[in-house]
Amino acid sequence: MHRRITGKLVIATHNPGKLAEMRELLAPHGVEAISASDLGLGEPEETGDSFRANAAIKAIAAASAADLPAFADDSGLAVDTLDGAPGIYSARWAGENKDFTAAMTRIERLLQEHGATTPGQRKAHFVSALCVAWPDGHLEQVEARADGTLVWPPRGTAGFGYDPMFLPDGHSRTFGEMTSVEKHGLPPLGLGLSHRARAFVKLAEICLD
Ligand code: IMP
Repeated sequence: MHRRITGKLVIATHNPGKLAEMRELLAPHGVEAISASDLGLGEPEETGDSFRANAAIKAIAAASAADLPAFADDSGLAVDTLDGAPGIYSARWAGENKDFTAAMTRIERLLQEHGATTPGQRKAHFVSALCVAWPDGHLEQVEARADGTLVWPPRGTAGFGYDPMFLPDGHSRTFGEMTSVEKHGLPPLGLGLSHRARAFVKLAEICLD
C-alpha cells in the first residue's frame, strides 16, 4: 500500500538549488517543506552502490533524526560508452571545488580515448531516484531517467552540473540552453522532460494529492 504525504516534510538536502527546486515542485500539493539545514541535521555518508540506495540512506537518516517524514533525492549522469560512469560518482568527479567544467572535460577526454565521435557512441542518461521515509520505517521510492547525447563543446549557461553537454533526445537545445521550466517540461509543456521532473511526476501519482 502506498502512503500519502500530508503536513510537514523534511527535505533532506543541504543543496540550496535542489531545495528551491523541490519546494517549487511540492508547493502545489499543500505540503509544508522544511529543510534539513534549518533543522540542523547532519549529512550521512552516501555509501550505497546505486542512486536508489543513496536516496534511501539520506531520507532514512533525516526521518529518524527529525521524527518526521523526509524526502531525499540522488541523481547523476551515466554515459553508455563509459559503462555508466560517472554514475553515482557524478558529484565527486567535479571535486571539492565543484568544477563541472573539469568534470565535463574529463568525460570528453574519455569519450575521445574510446573513439566515440558519432552521436550513437555518445549516448548518456541522467537518473533521479527519489525516496520518502517515515519515522516508522515505511519507504516510498521511485526512479526515472532522461535519455540524450553528449555534445562538445558544452552549450549554454543555464542549469547546473553536466547540463551544458547534455542534449535530450528529440530536442535541439542542451539542458544548459533551456530555462528550468523548459528543462522540467511539466504540464502544460509536457509530461516531464528532466529525470527529476519525471521521477517527481511518478511520486506525485502515488504519494501526493
Ligand atoms: P547528488 O544527487 O547530490 O549526489 O549529485 C548528483 C550530481 O549529478 C550533481 O552534482 C550533478 O553534477 C549531477 N546532476 C544531477 N542532476 C543533474 C541535472 O539535472 N543536470 C546536470 N547535472 C546533474
